[in-house]
Amino acid sequence: MPDLADNPVLAPWTGPHGGAPAFDRIKAVHFMPALDEAMARYRAEIATIAANSAAPTFANTLEAMERAGQDYRQVTSLMGTFASTMNDEGMKAVERDAAPKLAAFGDEILHNRALFDRIRAVYDARATSGLSAEQQRLADVTYDDFVRQGAALDPAQKHRLAEINQRLATLYTDFSQNILGDEEGQALTLTAEADLAGLPDDLIEAAASAARERGVKGWVIANTRSSMEPFMTFSARRDLREKALALWAGRGDSGGAHDNNAIIAEVLKLRVEKAALLGHDSFAHWIAAGQMAKTPEAAMDLLRQVWKPAVARAGEEVAEMQAVAAAEGSNEPISPWDYRYYSEKVRQAKYDLSNEAIKPYLQLDKLRDGMFWAAGELFDLAFTQLHDMPVYHPDVQVYEVTRDGARVGVWYFDFFARAGKRSGAWMSEYRTQQKLAGVTPIISNNSNFIPAPPGEPVLISWSDAVTLFHEFGHGLHGLLSNATYPSLAGTSVVRDFVELPSQLYERWLPTPQILSRFAVHCRTGEPMPQTLVDKLKKAENFSQGFHTAEYLACAILDLEYHLLADKAPDARTFEKQALERLGMPREIILRHRLPHFAHIFSGESYASGYYNYIWADTLTADAAEAFAESPGGFFDKALAKTLLDNVLSVGNTVEAGEAFRRFRGRDHTIEPLMRARGFAETDA
Ligand SMILES: [Zn+2]
Repeated sequence: MPDLADNPVLAPWTGPHGGAPAFDRIKAVHFMPALDEAMARYRAEIATIAANSAAPTFANTLEAMERAGQDYRQVTSLMGTFASTMNDEGMKAVERDAAPKLAAFGDEILHNRALFDRIRAVYDARATSGLSAEQQRLADVTYDDFVRQGAALDPAQKHRLAEINQRLATLYTDFSQNILGDEEGQALTLTAEADLAGLPDDLIEAAASAARERGVKGWVIANTRSSMEPFMTFSARRDLREKALALWAGRGDSGGAHDNNAIIAEVLKLRVEKAALLGHDSFAHWIAAGQMAKTPEAAMDLLRQVWKPAVARAGEEVAEMQAVAAAEGSNEPISPWDYRYYSEKVRQAKYDLSNEAIKPYLQLDKLRDGMFWAAGELFDLAFTQLHDMPVYHPDVQVYEVTRDGARVGVWYFDFFARAGKRSGAWMSEYRTQQKLAGVTPIISNNSNFIPAPPGEPVLISWSDAVTLFHEFGHGLHGLLSNATYPSLAGTSVVRDFVELPSQLYERWLPTPQILSRFAVHCRTGEPMPQTLVDKLKKAENFSQGFHTAEYLACAILDLEYHLLADKAPDARTFEKQALERLGMPREIILRHRLPHFAHIFSGESYASGYYNYIWADTLTADAAEAFAESPGGFFDKALAKTLLDNVLSVGNTVEAGEAFRRFRGRDHTIEPLMRARGFAETDA
């Protein structure tokens, strides 16, 4: 088949630096033929394993499964990359066609009785068959995963479960595409100079360029987080802030072709049925059972413990904002579209610290070098930019990562926002590390920074800088992986643990070592002055009430929604009633309203799991205190090694709670989180 032989999606990753995807040759039309072929190959490999006449052993069953499906993993990884970064009409069609097929294929393997019988035999004998600790762990994880996904159900139940999963896959894709549709199809257009009141120059410039791109007169504020949040922070026009927020908060809820309400209702109905089939009280119970939390009650308990102090703090923040508004002659009560605007004013007044004063010190390129430098200090990594690697877009940078001259992996960085790229920031593994096949990891970090005019440095906000370090923490988790089996490698850990490496890496940004070397002024090259550093420190927990509350409310709603057995009200009604029950402050709206809550409705990875972030942050705060208390502080070499050996390199070869215990010497506690957020008794 000449077509397939020349298909760049299926082509082996060859070339220098350990090989790389042929990104420059891939087009949307290549994906479906490549996927069909990769599935056929994987299916044949699985059939051979399942039909083996020899008695099941670790080698002929679990290890054989780990070796199988390489092409399939390659194709799905590339498909995910193009769907999230180069999403044109062609890719949208690929996603729609592929989603139910992928779901069906996953179930075909998970529901293969002969295969499961062999897995169970290896699992039953795991303690007595001379397996290594990692092999026993693989037996545990594989068996649990198969059971969790319905491998032990009867044929009729499996059939129904597969139907549900296929339908859900389609709904998840539709949900994501609707959000992208509203983000790309809607925008706030400004036509008069007066509409620009309060906006900083770089935002005006970006808005002008967005207008030019769309062939519109004036200025365009795109309906994305990276444009809307700065607009609502700086626009002095209350009427326009209100309009902007309505647009932003209305994504997926506008009643038109991109409305997600019917999708949400159907998703919940199917999830309820799925959880019941799998023998769980609710979808939330099914999800939690596979996480570190184990039960939704344990997760909810943490959320509720933090909710009260967060809301109390938000109340104090509102009072301060109200005073600033009054001094400016406004007696309007603070509304959700005012929060960011007055919050920024309070910050300037109280801490003499403005985003705009910090920004000239936050050059994207320098901060990238800073996070590389820290990884060098902590883990002996070195980064060298490669200019001979194929990329799917000229914005993408590629680096080789080495230790003592030996290649650790390759790291891609896709910086900038553009049409067809989903909003937010994320990490993905193009290729997961594994010793079994002897391959090094290929990792990508993605963000949506606003490009600077030609010749100007890209300046980012403090929170963008935090995000940069955050995603790089995920990247390091993938790069530093040292596992034998790909299923256990890198970031394939439980979801409420996976944010530990990323959130922890954020803590290196504000260290004096990083700020003095890499937070340098874009014109003068001077490091950030100590007075500014001090102010940053003092303002560290500024607006923490707001940020924690807008997050917690989403996490609580997510859990409550997925605890519903049946007869759930429609999403709008549920949201309204749940917020009333919760006592949501009227000045704050959800960070993600249900109609665009992509974490929980565009797939299952964070469904009933938005709590993961704060669960992992309790671990993070505890781990950060370990660094703060150690002799070498955040650059303590010995502690960095403990972190590497017990957390960053082990992937899922060690159970999450055990990994943390080995690092910290004890279980995690909530107190460090309360202290870190300024909610502790002593800080009141
Ligand atoms: Zn993360």
